[in-house]
Amino acid sequence: MITTLRTEITVKDICDGFVYNELEGKGLFGLSGKLTIQPEYQRNYIYADGKKDVAVIESILKGYPLGLIYFNKVTDSKFEVLDGQQRITSFGRFVTNKLAINDDNGLQQKFSSIAADKQEKILKTKLLIYECEGTESEIKDWFRTINIAGVPLNNQELLNAVYSGPFVTLGKEEFSNSQNVNIKQWSDYISGSANRQDFFERALDWVSKRNIGDYMSRHRYDNNITELKNYFNSVIDWVSTVFTDVESEMRGLEWGRLYETYSRQPYSPQEVSEQVKKLYADPYVKNRKGIFEYILGGSTDTKLLDVRVFDVATKNSVYAKQTTDAEEKGISNCPLCAIGHDSNKLKIWKINEMDADHVTAWSRGGATDPNNCQMLCKTHNRAKGNR
Ligand SMILES: [Zn+2]
Repeated sequence: MITTLRTEITVKDICDGFVYNELEGKGLFGLSGKLTIQPEYQRNYIYADGKKDVAVIESILKGYPLGLIYFNKVTDSKFEVLDGQQRITSFGRFVTNKLAINDDNGLQQKFSSIAADKQEKILKTKLLIYECEGTESEIKDWFRTINIAGVPLNNQELLNAVYSGPFVTLGKEEFSNSQNVNIKQWSDYISGSANRQDFFERALDWVSKRNIGDYMSRHRYDNNITELKNYFNSVIDWVSTVFTDVESEMRGLEWGRLYETYSRQPYSPQEVSEQVKKLYADPYVKNRKGIFEYILGGSTDTKLLDVRVFDVATKNSVYAKQTTDAEEKGISNCPLCAIGHDSNKLKIWKINEMDADHVTAWSRGGATDPNNCQMLCKTHNRAKGNR
């Protein structure tokens, strides 16, 4: 890769022909049309938070260095921003009056309303820019190794860079566009944000059965995302049909895997809804995130719910009572050993050789309180648990 340091390019040069797309929230072009600010492999603009973007303007006004900016030189008159997109978009928005900063009196000021000498200072600020020339794989390899402006690329952003092409462009249009009206519904089931590619990543994860890189490489030059979109919508339709109520614990569950495993089975949405409500109201259910898979799987795998266990005080008092009674009768303190026919019939187990058991199983309505607790030897407790 060849790199050339350029020191004479100013903020004014970059802002000549600066285009910012308000709808998609990204800076598009600059440098008299020669510069593409957001090539398709770049992350979306995430500095528009009234802090990071303002900090860029304040740095320029104070004469602080903005740091190195990297351009990918495509031809002699065509460049793409490799690193610096967030900073360029921030000052570009300011210079084009799309961003305001607070002045010394706390008043919001746009570029057109600040003093002429300050305007001059901003426009004349020179930038440190490396122009890089290399093959696609060299550029992307390099891109993979850098952290952009202190916010490291996440895994999906890197994959978008590595497999950039028509498929990524179309995928980002659908899944990385924060203006997409479906995002509100998707957010019921998927955590994260469109900007950081979380919906795109989930869609790819589901359709590819968790082989995202492989899928992106096979579809890299596709001119449609039909399969990706159809599969994603099928999963969302399925979960929103089976579970008619939206609970916050649904967000971020492995809906792709659950869809693969359970979508061929019929469910009654009304019965499911009643089960969900019952489990949400059950104080013994510790893991609410497990409720959905528990119900889908036929309400048998209580491990998913992490049902509350007996506390030490309960175990101690039940053990003491059972052992005293057993010693009086001359039988084992494990009630199941006591009615058996082997050598443990008379055995008094120590407390650490026993486990607490629900007499009536939790799944059949048995409570986790002392009245429903019995101590069993470990062998019998395990045997009972497997029934
Ligand atoms: Zn026993």
